[in-house]
Amino acid sequence: MESVDGSGVAVGMKMHRLALIEHTGTHIDAPSHFGEQFKSLGEIPLSDLVVPLVVVDISAKAAKSRDAQVEPADVLAWERRHGRLPDGCCVAVHSGWDPFAEMARNQAAHSHNSTGFGIEAARMLAEKRRVKGIAVDAMTIDSGPNVPSYPVHQFWLRSGRWGIEGITNLRSVPPVGALLVVGAAPIAEATGLPVRAIALF
Ligand SMILES: [Zn+2]
Repeated sequence: MESVDGSGVAVGMKMHRLALIEHTGTHIDAPSHFGEQFKSLGEIPLSDLVVPLVVVDISAKAAKSRDAQVEPADVLAWERRHGRLPDGCCVAVHSGWDPFAEMARNQAAHSHNSTGFGIEAARMLAEKRRVKGIAVDAMTIDSGPNVPSYPVHQFWLRSGRWGIEGITNLRSVPPVGALLVVGAAPIAEATGLPVRAIALF
C-alpha cells in the first residue's frame, strides 16, 4: 500500500487486514463468551486486568493424568505454604504443559484430554475468596472430562469474571508475588482476544 506524507511525497507503508477467531493462542475469555448479557472484553475495567498473580502447581498429578484438575484441596495446600490468596488476584494453574503441543496432540488423537479447574475449586475461588481471574496452561479452563458441558466456563464467566487459556512459561513465575498485566485491546463487543499476559516480579 502507498500513502502520501504531509509534504505530498509518496512513502512506503505496510499493513495487513487481520481476521482471526477471538479464542486463539494465549487468549482471554470475557464473561460475554458465555452469554451476551455479560461483560464484553471492552467492558472489563483495566483495574481487573492488572492484578496479583498466584501460581498453583498441579504438575505432579498432571504427570499422572492428562485430565487432572484443581480441587479445593490444592488451593488449601497452596495457602498453607504461602498464606491466604491475595484479594483480587488471578489464580493460574501450572500443570507443566505446553498448551499448544497439548492442543496438537488432542487434535491428532481426536481427544479432549486437558488439565483445568474443577467446579468446586471455581466456586471456592469466587465465593470464599476474592479472585478476579483464572488462567490455565491448557486451552480450556474446564478440565477435559467437563468439556462437553463446560460447568466452569458457565459458572465462572457468568459470575462476571474472566479466564485466560493457553498461558505459558508459568514455571519461571514465583508461586506468589508477581503482578499480572493482561494486555488486551478493549474491543467493545469482543468475547475474547489474544493477549500478552505479562508477569512482573
Ligand atoms: Zn477461550
